[in-house]
Amino acid sequence: MRYDVVTLFPELFDRFVAISFVGRAVERGIASFHFQSPRDFGLGKHKAVDDTPYGGGSGMVMRVDCLVASFDALDARAAESGEPRARRILLTPQGQRFDQKTAARLAAEPALMLICGRYEGFDERVRAYVDEELSLGDFVLTGGEIPTMAIVEATVRLLPGVLGNEASTEEESHSTATDGLLEYPHYTRPLEYRGAKVPDVLSSGHHAEIAKWRRAEAIERTRTRRPDLPLPPPPLPKKSRRKPPTG
Ligand code: SAM
Repeated sequence: MRYDVVTLFPELFDRFVAISFVGRAVERGIASFHFQSPRDFGLGKHKAVDDTPYGGGSGMVMRVDCLVASFDALDARAAESGEPRARRILLTPQGQRFDQKTAARLAAEPALMLICGRYEGFDERVRAYVDEELSLGDFVLTGGEIPTMAIVEATVRLLPGVLGNEASTEEESHSTATDGLLEYPHYTRPLEYRGAKVPDVLSSGHHAEIAKWRRAEAIERTRTRRPDLPLPPPPLPKKSRRKPPTG
């Protein structure tokens, strides 16, 4: 997966792309990053990329020309290297809410362009040059860099070969493999801590019982913590083994 990032602050990503599993994905050639600052296409002595809003009002607006020039520069670099065009994603609190399903959909793309706003946001005309708009949630941050990091983390860990144990991305909260439920509770040593014991079933060695307990806990946890999430239908009752009456 290639991540093309449009940001006025590429240096914010220096450590982010170098450590932990994002760094490992880069080292293994599974992920790559290209940064483009709109400042490179800024105007005048100060390389301005923003201007006052038409119609008045507070704050500054990011200029469409500097942004689109950044998209084109990233696309041109990719084309020169024979790489696919990236899907363009505008980070904005006005976009669709980013979630695990979206992460899975985006992880299947060969390349993503993540476009970080600053100031009051973007000149409206930039929207004609992007494929979709995503929001990290119903709150307002100062810039799109943290939402970009969140999207990178959520997608890169779904790429084959990034996490040690691939099954670990399937059995997680919100994953489709577990019906979108919240994950069951985890425990590790010690077996008892200040009177709080690990549930007996988990140290029983009885795998079927453990799986049953975990499923029930995941359902209960989702029901109580996130009543807005759908629950799976209850399992059908087992067919009676008794033979039907004859004659
Ligand atoms: N004036 C804009 C509004 O009310 O919709 C908010 C602008 S915000 C201060 C500056 C930039 O931060 C945005 O252009 C966007 O790129 C980013 N940003 C802020 N909150 C975000 C969120 N919840 N999700 C994604 N990006 C966000």
